[in-house]
Amino acid sequence: MAETHPCDAHIRHDLRTPINHMIGYTEMLIDDLPKACEGTLSLRLKNLLASTYRLLDTINRPAPVSLGRFDALFPDWRERMALVEADFLQLRAAADQHWSEAASDVGKIAEAIGNMRSLLEDLSARPVVDLGDPAARTERENVGGVVGSADGHLLIIDDRPENLELMQRRLIREGYRVTVSGSGQDALRRLETDNFDVILLDWLMPHMSGADVLAKIRSRFSAHELPVIVVTARHGSATIVDALTQGANDYLSKPLDFPVALARLATQVYLRKVTQQLAEANRQLKQFSYIDGLTAIANRRKFDEYLMTIWRRAQQEGSPVSLILIDVDFFKRFNDSLGHEAGDHALMRVAKAVSAGLFRTKDLAARYGGEEFAVILPETTLADAISVAERVRCAIMDLALPHPASSVMPVVTASLGVGEWRPTAFCEPSALINLADKGLYQAKAAGRNQVGTLGIQ
Ligand code: GH3
Ligand code: MG
Ligand code: MG
Repeated sequence: MAETHPCDAHIRHDLRTPINHMIGYTEMLIDDLPKACEGTLSLRLKNLLASTYRLLDTINRPAPVSLGRFDALFPDWRERMALVEADFLQLRAAADQHWSEAASDVGKIAEAIGNMRSLLEDLSARPVVDLGDPAARTERENVGGVVGSADGHLLIIDDRPENLELMQRRLIREGYRVTVSGSGQDALRRLETDNFDVILLDWLMPHMSGADVLAKIRSRFSAHELPVIVVTARHGSATIVDALTQGANDYLSKPLDFPVALARLATQVYLRKVTQQLAEANRQLKQFSYIDGLTAIANRRKFDEYLMTIWRRAQQEGSPVSLILIDVDFFKRFNDSLGHEAGDHALMRVAKAVSAGLFRTKDLAARYGGEEFAVILPETTLADAISVAERVRCAIMDLALPHPASSVMPVVTASLGVGEWRPTAFCEPSALINLADKGLYQAKAAGRNQVGTLGIQ
């Protein structure tokens, strides 16, 4: 339906509100109807629902409301309203007789019908139909709180307490945990402290519109992190397109077709859960991609990335970075004499000894490749790095892993090369790696099982 004039939209919105309440409470009574009371009561409820929907058809009929007399534009409203009232009286009589527990909700329907009639009378009494300014409505904040318990936590934002109550009761019954909020401001405050799975957001609200609330939500949460379903009483594609392009995940029209609303809610809750699981799986996968399969310490990929991170930081701060390269002595011979499996086991033990020799969380031990390991020591001078390297060398020797084929000692030993660099703007980490590698070469050449260094670059 075309909603060309804002006055038109506001009047229709105001008229649909009591109708939505009439429909909502009637549907809820139909759902709740005890078996023993079926029959007459069921028929009365269905009649009332049907006549209410006929009244809604009248309100939804395309007509430029703001430009003419209400009675002339909607000549059948009195007749349809009268039918609703007649059906309601029959329902009330039946409910009084058979189902006294329904009195409160029947009372709510009576109230909504009363509101509808005064609104219609008021509109028809005016010479020319004029706008009802939604901004002039008083804002009702902090309506309700958290109720219920189930796997999805919903936040419903609507300026009408009756809408909140209706949706809250029906959704709690479905097993959702529901928090309600009577204004955008209140909802945004709740978002500071609470976690929600899905938000149901009324689009037309005074003071802070649904669009404003959505913009604020999207500045903090992506559509994957916090799905928002816009609930709109406006018919016509413009509002829906606006809401979706401004970041809503989906929309629902008032009066709510409750089964459809439930299905769409469930879809958003499910999508959010799946997206979160996917993000967690990706995070774990990334963690795994940084771990060496044999030794369970950091792998070469992690080494390269971490060294680059530390290097860039050191370039900014002017701090030193030290590196230790560790190479197990005569490891080919170890494999050849004791077998590859024993070799694997020895590498695992060496990796543990290297890691255990580091005391700061920012120091990183990695498997550099084959029987070579590396240690990155941020903000560390050569002298301190040499003492770490000595500690690691002794720890490997102290493992006392028998190595009968070694020319150094009858146990597994390693040679270590240490380098320190204070990176300037244009030098790359390969400079430090080359320096430590030269130290390692020196340690090998000097007889192995020792720490070699060329001194500071
Ligand atoms: P050097 O004292 O000069 O370092 O001699 P090396 O034998 O240790 O050095 P070389 O580079 O000649 O041999 C390294 C050996 O390490 C050969 C290779 O089979 C072994 N190696 C590399 N990765 C693994 C592994 O994952 N498991 C086992 N068991 N052996 C490995
Ligand atoms: Mg080697
Ligand atoms: Mg070796």
